[in-house]
Amino acid sequence: MVYRASPATPFDLPSVDSWRAETDVLIVGGGGAGISAAIEAADAGARVLVLEAASEPGGSTALAGGLIYMGGGTPTQTACGFDDDLEEMHKYLVLAAGPNADPQKIRLYCDRTLEHYDWLTQQGVVFKPLYYPHKHTNTPNEAALMISGNEEAWPYNAQAKPAPRGHKPQIKGDHGGIPLMKNLLRRAKEKGVQIISDARALATIKRGAEVVGIVARIDQQEMYFRAHRGVILAAGGFIMNEQMVANYAPRLALGNYPNGNPNDTGGGIRIGIGAGGATLNMHEGFICTPFYPPHQFLEAIIVNELGQRFINEDVYHGRLGSAILDRPEGRYYLIIDSRNFDILERPPMGGYPIAGTGESIEELEAVLSLPPGNLASTLNIYNSGAATGEDASFHKAQKFLIPLNQPPYAAFDLSLGHGAIFATMTFGGLETLPTGEVLTIQGKAIPGLFAAGRNSAGLPSCAEGYSSGMSIGDATFFGRLAGLSAASRLTE
Ligand SMILES: Cc1cc2nc3c(=O)[nH]c(=O)nc-3n(C[C@H](O)[C@H](O)[C@H](O)COP(=O)(O)OP(=O)(O)OC[C@H]3O[C@@H](n4cnc5c(N)ncnc54)[C@H](O)[C@@H]3O)c2cc1C
Repeated sequence: MVYRASPATPFDLPSVDSWRAETDVLIVGGGGAGISAAIEAADAGARVLVLEAASEPGGSTALAGGLIYMGGGTPTQTACGFDDDLEEMHKYLVLAAGPNADPQKIRLYCDRTLEHYDWLTQQGVVFKPLYYPHKHTNTPNEAALMISGNEEAWPYNAQAKPAPRGHKPQIKGDHGGIPLMKNLLRRAKEKGVQIISDARALATIKRGAEVVGIVARIDQQEMYFRAHRGVILAAGGFIMNEQMVANYAPRLALGNYPNGNPNDTGGGIRIGIGAGGATLNMHEGFICTPFYPPHQFLEAIIVNELGQRFINEDVYHGRLGSAILDRPEGRYYLIIDSRNFDILERPPMGGYPIAGTGESIEELEAVLSLPPGNLASTLNIYNSGAATGEDASFHKAQKFLIPLNQPPYAAFDLSLGHGAIFATMTFGGLETLPTGEVLTIQGKAIPGLFAAGRNSAGLPSCAEGYSSGMSIGDATFFGRLAGLSAASRLTE
């Protein structure tokens, strides 16, 4: 068999001799975006077929913590005693999504967040109405609700009223993606969605400018799938493709822990580019150094090689990770005093080694080879602020602002390449309308081609502002819209 297909070269319809299957809506990728699209498309009356490269569908969504960013007074927020406001959520997401964001997508996402919550629960997803009050990467118990980003941290708290908006589908611990995908997949099957696993999409099939199908590899054979209404690319991000990360997102290439599934190789994005699609925000992604848990680390100070603070230490770990990878050659230390020394008995989640200890802050400064006097001066300023409840330099919230004045001291090494985890995943993808149509570089929709989830550039678009839940929220919500658009497309 001669292999002919590659993402860069769409097939011409006349060169297809026989179809392996014909359907109305053909979806590439059976993760959060793809299966949400499939349910909506089937609900709209379309025949739906999903091609999944792995042996089982689920994707990174099934591997994920499962937090979904929703607010404006969801039933879970209300049951937990929180009074959220849609406009506050909108203000926050505009800041969190950063300067590269698509304002229309943010607006639509907020306007329909309560409807999306209802849709998820209608698919069988359960959010246990319990609030987890500490800073963590996810709720460690079955609680659904937590603060999942920078909501309570400066400068975000000065511009939008904080509320917990991370919603985890019910399960104990950090595995909310499992019940989420289990429910979505069950519902898709009930609606007659057909899923073919071990089927890797390779290229589009086009009739002129229009996308009318997909070439896929199954059992070493290239096979042709006809889509009468539309193809939706929902094949995830590209963090597992070293070459693409090096080319498009060099800052993410500095990370040492690619966060995703093995098929996060950008195949769907390349298929879309080959079909004429433009891309956006390919340089952006999530950069996470999980400096909490333990939550006591929020009471620490974090300094650079000059012994100076550079950030409020109550930020989401993505914001700290981003600040460190902005200046990767720097040295970074997290400093605690003896009040929290019990932490030394178990390793912190971020894998940070102990860089040194000191009976006094001056001794620690010498052990870390910091410029003499700097760390002591930093600590003096911090402790004076803590005594009055105000961090004039970096505006750390009062609840974490506790004087570090009980020697001895210990420092953890947060520097890149010294043992700390810097987990990364990509945000960039095909440029789409909020309703999923893939756009060319001229801003024209490619007939028959749609994208969602990390195959598209969506809500998450800036490392320093990212909040957990924005990715799965984006994938499931905009996946639905793409499913509906493809199913409703009129063709001759
Ligand atoms: C450990 C971990 C924890 C996370 N926690 C959270 C969290 O709590 N909240 C949050 O918002 N985000 C979280 N994320 C990020 C989030 O899971 C993803 O960004 C999101 O789920 C992507 O959804 P998707 O549908 O675009 O892709 P996926 O869910 O990855 O689905 C893509 C599917 O396409 C398939 N595929 C790939 N290439 C092809 C091809 N050529 N042909 C056919 N199929 C193909 C893949 O096998 C996969 O099944 C986490 C990610 C990880 C890895």
